[in-house]
Amino acid sequence: KAKLVIIGAGIVGCSTAYHLAKLGWQDIVVIDRGPLFATGGSTSHAPGLVFQINYSKTMTLLAKYTVELYSQLQTAEGSAFYSVGGIEVAYTEARWQELKRKVGWAKSWGIEYAKLLTPEQAKEKVPLLDETEILGAFYVPTDGIAKAVIAAEALANFAIDSDAAKFYGDTQVLDIEVEQGQVKSVVTDKGNITTDKVLVCAGIWGPLIGEMVGEVIPLVPAQHQYVKTTPLPELAGETREVVHPIIRNQDKSTYFRQHADCYGVGSYDHEPLLVDPKDILSHKEAPIMPSLMQFTEEHFQAAWQSTIELLPSLAETELPYKINGMMSFTPDGFPVIGESSKVKGFWVAEAVWVTHGGGVGKVVAELLTTGIPSLDLHECDINRFPQVTQSREYIWESAAQQYRDVYDIIHPQAQPKTQYRQLRLSPFYPRLQELGAVFFTSAGWERPQWFESNAKLLEKYSIPQREGWSAQNWSPIQGAEHLATREGVALYDLTPFTKLKVTGEKALEYLQYLCANKINSTVGKVTYTSMLDANGGIMCDLTITCLGKEQFWVITGGAVGGHDLAWMKLHLPQDHSVNIADVSSSYCCLGLWGPLAPKVLSAVTDADVSQEGFFTARQIYLGSIPALAVRVSYVGELGWEIYVPTESGLKLWDLLWSAGQSYGIIAAGGGAFESLRLEKGYLLWGADIHTECDPYEAGLGFAVKPNKGEFIGRDALLQRKEYQSRKLCYLTLDDPKVVVMGKEPVLSGEKILGYVTSADYGYSLGRCFIYAYLPLSYAAPGTTVEIEYFGDRYLATVKELEN
Ligand code: FAD
Repeated sequence: KAKLVIIGAGIVGCSTAYHLAKLGWQDIVVIDRGPLFATGGSTSHAPGLVFQINYSKTMTLLAKYTVELYSQLQTAEGSAFYSVGGIEVAYTEARWQELKRKVGWAKSWGIEYAKLLTPEQAKEKVPLLDETEILGAFYVPTDGIAKAVIAAEALANFAIDSDAAKFYGDTQVLDIEVEQGQVKSVVTDKGNITTDKVLVCAGIWGPLIGEMVGEVIPLVPAQHQYVKTTPLPELAGETREVVHPIIRNQDKSTYFRQHADCYGVGSYDHEPLLVDPKDILSHKEAPIMPSLMQFTEEHFQAAWQSTIELLPSLAETELPYKINGMMSFTPDGFPVIGESSKVKGFWVAEAVWVTHGGGVGKVVAELLTTGIPSLDLHECDINRFPQVTQSREYIWESAAQQYRDVYDIIHPQAQPKTQYRQLRLSPFYPRLQELGAVFFTSAGWERPQWFESNAKLLEKYSIPQREGWSAQNWSPIQGAEHLATREGVALYDLTPFTKLKVTGEKALEYLQYLCANKINSTVGKVTYTSMLDANGGIMCDLTITCLGKEQFWVITGGAVGGHDLAWMKLHLPQDHSVNIADVSSSYCCLGLWGPLAPKVLSAVTDADVSQEGFFTARQIYLGSIPALAVRVSYVGELGWEIYVPTESGLKLWDLLWSAGQSYGIIAAGGGAFESLRLEKGYLLWGADIHTECDPYEAGLGFAVKPNKGEFIGRDALLQRKEYQSRKLCYLTLDDPKVVVMGKEPVLSGEKILGYVTSADYGYSLGRCFIYAYLPLSYAAPGTTVEIEYFGDRYLATVKELEN
């Protein structure tokens, strides 16, 4: 019997056991099919390079904490971390620019002292470098080498010594028994353990454990090459583990570290070599260890060529150690963390690098203990994968692409290169195509970003051209669609929205308990609200429309639907008095927005829509089509979200399109949608708001009703309000020609104030518009700050939002 069974004693399982022990847990059992602690999993052969900076704040902070944690650990074998610094070199101009962006991320995420180096300065740090090959380098002094097995063992020892956990090696989990959707026991080759919680930290074997309970763990083991040289004359007599900074040459998909008097080379410079988890050899069958495959010379040739260009003295060495190790790749490159929404008590912490192992253990322990992680984890959420992206074909294809792209420069608006497109099409799709839609994809949906047929609008609207980074994946047509929406009327395909029907005798009570705002229970009234976690952080951001006495229509974003639904299901009353139906596929949605929207709508319905107030909804007929017309807008213009049964979608489009002709109606895309919402102060969950922010600091206090009665997060929120120290501010860049893209640091002199949560050009304002949380002392309108973008500083001014 155990309170929790952790499957896997690699770095992730051990780190989680450690953090649970710190939080006072007991009765944890950790099982591994291999010997402890060199178990034969990926941790056993990872060379342990830790580069902390990532475009994701969450991943960077997980790595930062990991460095702090490993730095304190050691066993009789030695220290778990060597803080030798990390160098990323630039071969190409594009990479050099990217490294400047990385300096910005380091500032945004609070990693100190990261800076650029000249080629000569890089050579001073690593004398083996041929500095003539590079344009410069990016240096992070706190990066370094993790000795992953030592770290795992030290973390496990703490959990064992504090009587929190027992570890069993050479014990294989064969099955997990589930009754009525709840984990009941774990079946091993040494006997059964009764438990209602399992945490899967099984690395590349994760999908096999998922299959035991019918859950998809979307990762694929990929072979990845690592070699070690014979001793280098330049390092003769060196016995210390590592002294040189670790090096990455992302332009050539390789990385390097010193091993005393030798060097190690890792390479992603070959087509992905994916492995079915079922085909991984057992400990008995594997020649060395299960996570190692035969080294394939042919895949290493290009990497070796670029290695000796950068580190010429390696050319004289032999390669006595060569492996194809296996590690996990997911469809979007992020880990998979959290409790399954299908099987209660089935927890997952998968596809985690050694770099993030310490931090992931911490947040998973927090999740298991209180349900509230100290970091926003939405990028890693196990529920982020819609079902259409859970097929083997999709997962393999996307994971392979992640492998290819692992060191690539990725533009924030870049579209996935996989052939898996067109998974979800709205009924308007043929019309969107006819109008020359340029599609971007999200959660499997094809969403128009702009329409080539609107190019003619550029004769009417003058949209400033862009250059460089901000001109990529962008068209001036977006700006024209933006202005045409503000002046006239536009149709937006909003079908990807997640649409939920919450019904039942306690539906209202349930929603009141979940939501920070008071849910209006008058039929036809719409409430905008947050759902908070117990810390007062914003867990969900949605609109709720009362359709009837016990019926509510809940709308949230397309990409966050799985996340929000899981949170709502977690809090459903046990007595089945509330039901949630995901009706996203049953209904399509059009946004009809702009000052002329009432004229278009009036032309197709007998209902009098001219007098309707904001935040109201009505069931009406548009022609013969039954529709729910909700008078809300995310773009800050008059208009409606119109929901109709999916099968009536095409007819609805044609009806509105034809009625709109005399008013100059256009179709508009996601690009215009984004800049319109930014100009009007509407926030995006996952960027501007998430669990690390509360509604008061985000300026959403108007949608919190602390006096309405008890709701999740209420008390914590009121406490946070007392100590509020920052505020989401609206800023514009002083230079009208510059457009930043998000995540850039906001500074006053050398003081880092915050970072850009969202940014885009405000076509009506004629300036780039920025959101950022700033300390209250910098939040007053008129305050001037600086934004660092590709190494340059631009002045920005805090503004009062004019609606
Ligand atoms: P693992 O260490 O694989 O642990 C999973 C454990 O689960 C295994 O011990 C396994 O025996 C056990 N298990 C599985 N199924 C069962 C079962 N049914 N019953 C019982 N036990 C089970 N990361 C970095 O951050 N930096 C690097 O420089 C780096 N270099 C790498 C180089 C190579 C060549 C490779 C292959 C990977 C590298 N990685 C690196 C990635 C890193 O090694 C892994 O991401 C990390 O070690 C995964 O840790 P884990 O605990 O999730 O998995």
